[in-house]
Amino acid sequence: MNRENSLSRIKEEKGSWDLVIIGGGASGLGVALDALSRGLKVLLLEKSDFAKGTSSRSTKLVHGGVRYLAQGEVGLVLEALKERGRLLKNAPHLTINQPFVIPLYTYFDRLKYGLGLKIYDWMAGSLRLGKSMFVSKEETIKRLPQIKQRGLKGGILYHDGQFDDARLALAIAKTCIEMGGCILNYARVNKLTKGEDGKINGLVFRDLIGKTNYRISAKSVVNATGVFADKILQMDNPEAPKMIQPSQGIHLVMDSSFLGGEDALMIPETSDGRVLFAVPWEGKLVVGTTDTLVKKPKMEPRPLASEINFILETAKNYLVRPPKRSDVLSVFAGLRPLAAPKEGSTKTKEISRSHKVIVSKSNLITITGGKWTTFRKMGEDTVDAHFKNHGLQKLASSSAEKHLHGYSEEEIEGHLQLYGADAALVLDLQKQRPELKERLHEAYPYTAAEVVWAVREEMALKIEDFLSRRCRILLLDAKASMQMAPKVAEIMAKELKKDEAWITEELEEFNKLAKKYLIK
Ligand SMILES: Cc1cc2nc3c(=O)[nH]c(=O)nc-3n(C[C@H](O)[C@H](O)[C@H](O)COP(=O)(O)OP(=O)(O)OC[C@H]3O[C@@H](n4cnc5c(N)ncnc54)[C@H](O)[C@@H]3O)c2cc1C
Repeated sequence: MNRENSLSRIKEEKGSWDLVIIGGGASGLGVALDALSRGLKVLLLEKSDFAKGTSSRSTKLVHGGVRYLAQGEVGLVLEALKERGRLLKNAPHLTINQPFVIPLYTYFDRLKYGLGLKIYDWMAGSLRLGKSMFVSKEETIKRLPQIKQRGLKGGILYHDGQFDDARLALAIAKTCIEMGGCILNYARVNKLTKGEDGKINGLVFRDLIGKTNYRISAKSVVNATGVFADKILQMDNPEAPKMIQPSQGIHLVMDSSFLGGEDALMIPETSDGRVLFAVPWEGKLVVGTTDTLVKKPKMEPRPLASEINFILETAKNYLVRPPKRSDVLSVFAGLRPLAAPKEGSTKTKEISRSHKVIVSKSNLITITGGKWTTFRKMGEDTVDAHFKNHGLQKLASSSAEKHLHGYSEEEIEGHLQLYGADAALVLDLQKQRPELKERLHEAYPYTAAEVVWAVREEMALKIEDFLSRRCRILLLDAKASMQMAPKVAEIMAKELKKDEAWITEELEEFNKLAKKYLIK
């Protein structure tokens, strides 16, 4: 995964690409993976870093979506359960089978959730991750040591998957490169080009690092820009109606001792009728999320005070030790790319969460909606549209069986598990240069070797790329990420051959960003 190699390839390619994909989040990467599995020639362009948008800000669940079942979205849940099983098989190094417990305070809830989760199990068929069952009050307390015990009748135990979203994005990007794809970050698409027939035949993008524009020709252009999809649709047709309604969801990260144990807590009905999760993640506890309509899409959405209060208030009702604002180590927000509601409706809950593939008159293929769990299927449906559009015979897809980069069934101790087969190579770096064993922060296990690895092998170009998406410290503990930043900047500057001015600028930019992840 080397930026210079990708740029050389773009310059050298004389012929046109089959598919040029705009957006390097879950959707764009899913399209690239599936298209490559069918032998197409693929270029993916991301204006920032891979997964910088919504795809690094999820709740980190690989799930069928139990709550959609209650809304009668059977097809959506069936599809997601199938994809959940596939992802856990294809990326065992990046996913885990996570037990969840719903605490029960009435016998009616036992019946309602017990039955619902039996159906969920049954729908997953052979891809089921474990049997859901009623557990006694004692067992519930053992699994959720900090749950409020007054009135507790027991719990329902069930299973879903959990993953590291940004590192999964990197693993997919690497897999795509290994399959012959070309992938570039910090490459912003500024214009779509059309032939005399009015059909899109390529685009113009700007390499934001080299400050150069490139004109690219393509059989199909795919708009996989999440909440930014309307901007690309309007590049195609300035009159295009608004398709996306962004809906914000935030998460609070706190010490894992607020829940205790290794199981996750699922609160099936909050005061606003949603579900709330408290999930152990990389040694901390992630609590969320919310559903707040916002007017405009932003690269760095800001959590609202009301959202923070809502999560703290809800957690207070269930946890023995109620978390306070001062207990929050980091707060992060993401935007759901929901399909804009029909006129008259304002509630996002009413909008279907399934994905949509839309082809414009000039052949721009747009993929919107969906979720991380179904990224591969979303890709498959999008590539099908490419064949249909051009009247071509569909080539068979094999993305469902494709092992993702780093695939390893071996259990590696500690956080290097997420590197899978690459963990040995990171450790080799430390053997070759023992100074790279140095920790970046006394309270965390990340080492200097991982920074070197991120620059050489994972296309990290800014300190934020490392601190937010290669290692996840910005989301886990924003203050610690600021303390690590100077060391990370120094190592990256050496690797990237940058000067002192670059270090100063990077640190200033990062500290400004990290402060937004702190609650005052
Ligand atoms: C709060 C929250 C929690 C969630 N939790 C879960 C969960 O637990 N499990 C799950 O399965 N799903 C979850 N989801 C859903 C999932 O995260 C999203 O569906 C998914 O990440 C969307 O990916 P995307 O690629 O469509 O968008 P994005 O990740 O936003 O990617 C779009 C990319 O396009 C790029 N781009 C935009 N314009 C241009 C341009 N002109 N040129 C080049 N690139 C451009 C952007 O920089 C961006 O990186 C959650 C979503 C939210 C908001």
